[in-house]
Amino acid sequence: MNFEFSEEEEMFRDSVREFSERYIQPKWVEVDESNKIPYDLIKKMADQGLFGIPISEEYGGMGGTYVMTAIAVEEVAYYDPAVAIAVYLLLNNGWPYALELFGSEEAKSEILPKVVSGEAFFGIASTEPQGGSDVAGIKTFAEKKDGVWILNGEKSYISGVREVTELPMGGGWFLVAKTGSLEWGHRNITAFAVLPKWNGKLKDGFKPTIYEEIGRGGLSTGGFILENFEVEDKYVIGELNKGFYHVMEGFNLARILVAAACVGSARWALDAAMEWLRNRKLFQDRRLSSFQGIQFKLAELYADLEAARLFTYKAAWLADKIYKEKAEGYNPKDLNIPVALAKMKAPETATRIYEEVLKWHGAYGYTKESNVYRGWIGTFSYTIGAEGAQNIMRIIIARDLLGREYVRG
Ligand SMILES: Cc1cc2nc3c(=O)[nH]c(=O)nc-3n(C[C@H](O)[C@H](O)[C@H](O)COP(=O)(O)OP(=O)(O)OC[C@H]3O[C@@H](n4cnc5c(N)ncnc54)[C@H](O)[C@@H]3O)c2cc1C
Repeated sequence: MNFEFSEEEEMFRDSVREFSERYIQPKWVEVDESNKIPYDLIKKMADQGLFGIPISEEYGGMGGTYVMTAIAVEEVAYYDPAVAIAVYLLLNNGWPYALELFGSEEAKSEILPKVVSGEAFFGIASTEPQGGSDVAGIKTFAEKKDGVWILNGEKSYISGVREVTELPMGGGWFLVAKTGSLEWGHRNITAFAVLPKWNGKLKDGFKPTIYEEIGRGGLSTGGFILENFEVEDKYVIGELNKGFYHVMEGFNLARILVAAACVGSARWALDAAMEWLRNRKLFQDRRLSSFQGIQFKLAELYADLEAARLFTYKAAWLADKIYKEKAEGYNPKDLNIPVALAKMKAPETATRIYEEVLKWHGAYGYTKESNVYRGWIGTFSYTIGAEGAQNIMRIIIARDLLGREYVRG
């Protein structure tokens, strides 16, 4: 057992930290307020090699480990605690990596280098208006006519809708749709790389809407209707009718990075709070940090944060064993519980830390000027359910502990 990062990972952390301190920290509030990550920042991140960290070098990526990817997301979230920039980063690492694992050679060599260079976005589109947790119940339908896939349906609460339409190249999503029949189930779903804008051109049959959200301002969330939207065969991801299983593996990979983002943001909140606790003086010049009631809470929250961090890096380490090292005796299902633990623990810990940190700041914490609330609402997006609702994490853990047949009524 080894709880240390390698020398290479430590050097990588230092480089991401330096970059984030220089380019992200001065901008994060402006990004949150203006609802936009400036394109020059996206390009700088790309030049730093931050997109496609786990992607193979043949597609322009860094060929790094998943642990390194989690490190990058944690560090960026520390300097952007509102997490929009961190989420932009995690989507553009996790889902392109899932495409690398399952996609066709043609699709990978076309899409991945453009994501790595920052010119295109590649996220996930599974949620539909009737309920995101029930992936087997999606209604978007794909059928093949004259050699081309025709997609009809609606996706909702999808990150990156505005970014896809605004980036010079465009981009799209790892999208799941029913194939064969619309019946509820796992074996009639296929994954597609759906690129509504590509090579700078918006395709027909894509009708986007942008939602007004309460937090995580820098990254858009929206919906879209696909109306006879055409997708070429090369964009089928993995095997026909196996999309449910491919997207679940993708979720496992993305959720590790979600946990890393929440850990990074919450670490910032605790660091900022400790600075405040050491300096705020009350009751005849006593520091807030001198009150045991506060110390006890700080210790408990730190313990929760450390647990979330350990869950996160254990899951990232396991992902490397499975996907990077292809180590004998490890398989993708081994990730289910470790990832669900990380995704359950990290957002809930972050939200609890923010609640306490806001209270420690007193009335100042309730002002916009304090900026603390930005991290609270940002990380809360993951307590609500982006990349999978919290109860679904509990269901995965209980199902794999008890056995699938014992959790059915
Ligand atoms: C900011 C943000 C960004 C997002 N980005 C994306 C994206 O890029 N791509 C994408 O596909 N989706 C995205 N989503 C959607 C997200 O995946 C869904 O919100 C999530 O899957 C939950 O779906 P839902 O919101 O429809 O809630 P529902 O599935 O309707 O669930 C509602 C509540 O019921 C609980 N629940 C559901 N089933 C059960 C059960 N069996 N037992 C007990 N409790 C249950 C859930 O925990 C939740 O609290 C995003 C969401 C947010 C908030």
